[in-house]
Amino acid sequence: MLKKIVLFLLLIMVVTSACGKKDVKKDDLTSILQRDKIIVGVKDDTKPFGFRDKDGNLAGYDIDLAREIAKGLLGSENKVEFVSVTPSNRIMRLNNEDVDMLISTMSVTNQRQQVVDFSIPYYIAGQAIMVNGDSKAATIRDFSGKRMIIVFGSTSEKTLRMNVPDVKVIGYKTYPEAYRALKARKADAMVADDTILLGFTLSDKSVRLLNKRYSKEPYAVAFRKTNASKDLQYKVNYILENMQSSGKLNRLQEKWHIK
Ligand code: GLU
Repeated sequence: MLKKIVLFLLLIMVVTSACGKKDVKKDDLTSILQRDKIIVGVKDDTKPFGFRDKDGNLAGYDIDLAREIAKGLLGSENKVEFVSVTPSNRIMRLNNEDVDMLISTMSVTNQRQQVVDFSIPYYIAGQAIMVNGDSKAATIRDFSGKRMIIVFGSTSEKTLRMNVPDVKVIGYKTYPEAYRALKARKADAMVADDTILLGFTLSDKSVRLLNKRYSKEPYAVAFRKTNASKDLQYKVNYILENMQSSGKLNRLQEKWHIK
């Protein structure tokens, strides 16, 4: 009899400790609702998507989108905390649970889909080439055997490997560093999303974009690839679909001149 009671007590302990563990690891949406704010990984140097305005505040299309998602999930566009990420550290920051999601000019690619989940696309960019004003180049093939700048962790390197395999690739950590390197003539051109490059050419007439686009870059919100993020993904997709059908997404694109 005593043996049976001990076994029964042991069983209860195992069951309750298992339940306890489940409580500790909540799903992402529940954690957000309890915390009453979302934590979003964004760019802070990529105009007009995520950048610091003249007062030092974060602004841009991705930032506005994050605020809309906060409003949709928690009822206020102020219930959001931003964490600055770069193309090379953003997936690590997401998987370390430093952020709930990434809204960081991040394109959906097959390779990235192995490690993160994506929302529906919220913008489509394309990759372009930026050169110094006196460059004679007209297409990507003119850079065969030359030097081209990319940002580490971005899709630009793949675009180069596919179009000009013998180009010498020079990488930088951020877009402003890459732009300064082009201006300092450390290479013959820079490859990046057209919208990001336009952020430079609009304020600097000594650089320009070549006409052609070399890839399609569907930007989407990235989530951890776990069951715990599924409810959050569902809700965010619902918010994005509503923004699309109500014309809100279009209006934001007009606001940031990326339409
Ligand atoms: N959209 C491209 C990418 O996801 C370039 C922009 C970026 O580096 O964030 O790689």
